[in-house]
Amino acid sequence: RSLVGDRMSLVIHTVSSVVTAYIMGLVIAWRLAILMIAVQPFSIICYYTRYVLLKSMSEKSTQAQAECSKLAAEAVSNLRTITAFSSQNRIMRLFDEAQEGPCKESIRQSWFAGIGLGTSTSLLRCTWALTFWYTGILLAGHHINAKAFFQTFLILISTTLVIADAGSMTADLAKGADAVASVFAVLDRETEMDPDSPEGYKPEKLKGEVDIRGVDFAYPSRPDVIIFKRFSLSIQPAKSTALVGQSGSGKSTIIGLIERFYDPSSGVVEIDHKDIKAYNLRSLRQHIGLVSQEPTLFAGTIRENIVYGTEVASKEEIENAARSANAHDFISNLKDGYETKCGEQGVQLSGGQKQRIAIARAILKNHAILLLDEA
Ligand code: ADP
Ligand code: MG
Repeated sequence: RSLVGDRMSLVIHTVSSVVTAYIMGLVIAWRLAILMIAVQPFSIICYYTRYVLLKSMSEKSTQAQAECSKLAAEAVSNLRTITAFSSQNRIMRLFDEAQEGPCKESIRQSWFAGIGLGTSTSLLRCTWALTFWYTGILLAGHHINAKAFFQTFLILISTTLVIADAGSMTADLAKGADAVASVFAVLDRETEMDPDSPEGYKPEKLKGEVDIRGVDFAYPSRPDVIIFKRFSLSIQPAKSTALVGQSGSGKSTIIGLIERFYDPSSGVVEIDHKDIKAYNLRSLRQHIGLVSQEPTLFAGTIRENIVYGTEVASKEEIENAARSANAHDFISNLKDGYETKCGEQGVQLSGGQKQRIAIARAILKNHAILLLDEA
């Protein structure tokens, strides 16, 4: 909007008002109008400087506050960790230190701003003084009358403001252009894996045999850190396979590859002897259940959370899924049972309880492949 609508209206507004004002001024009192138009650039520069100075000052202080509020927000959300490690004093010290820089900067800025604002305001008044002095001469020589002076003076002074405003808006227009460019960059970005693409094989039913063959993989964000090198793994259908390894050894990464969150740089991931790249992504994922390392519950009741992603499920099925996930007992003990609200404003569930609900959600779907990441 600021790039298209505002710019057009701004240009029309400024040009038409400047033309009108100059014509009226010159018609009413041409000598005075010429002087005022001649000194107008000074006034415009004054207004513009004032605007830029004030704006840069408020931007700097907002930035300084952002640093401090980030620290404060982090401290509040990690309150338990901070208390457990008795590091309140450290946080307070960090907060003080975070304020030190902005404080010095503000003092330095205030000098510039004071001198800049003072100079621009006094220059502005000087141009007015010049106008009044010249008007005095014109009045004494009976070239104009008081009425003509007031008309010309007010008309031309207000156009100065219009022009200065237009000037200060150009900065916003430039910013608008930047913003638009970044939005288009996101919209134009082509993903290699398009879940909305209608192409690919849509399986009715999967056996659930997973074969990872000679996979090389590194995360796109850290291409130099090789996670897998010629890695192979075969997982038989109707069997539970557990992967054991140190933290950071790549267990979650394997799950990401099976879900096709990422493609390996070489080698293939096969499900039922078919490269997963040949499958329709959305319908493939409908056959894979996932409970991730940090399970997410959505706002809503526990029942809604378990049913999430399933079309219909009877009460019986939901309870059976919860039983298999060892969640039925604790859910029944809650005051509202399955209708207990969870999520942001809901009841506080322990990490383990959340995970059990997430497991029940995955079990209810009865997927061919069920991936549990440390759940
Ligand atoms: P874990 O076996 O503990 O589940 P992961 O598979 O999560 O291990 O991680 C394996 C390695 O990949 C780690 O060294 C980790 O630093 C790196 N890693 C995990 N996720 C990402 C990511 N999104 N971008 C870059 N590197 C990652
Ligand atoms: Mg992990």
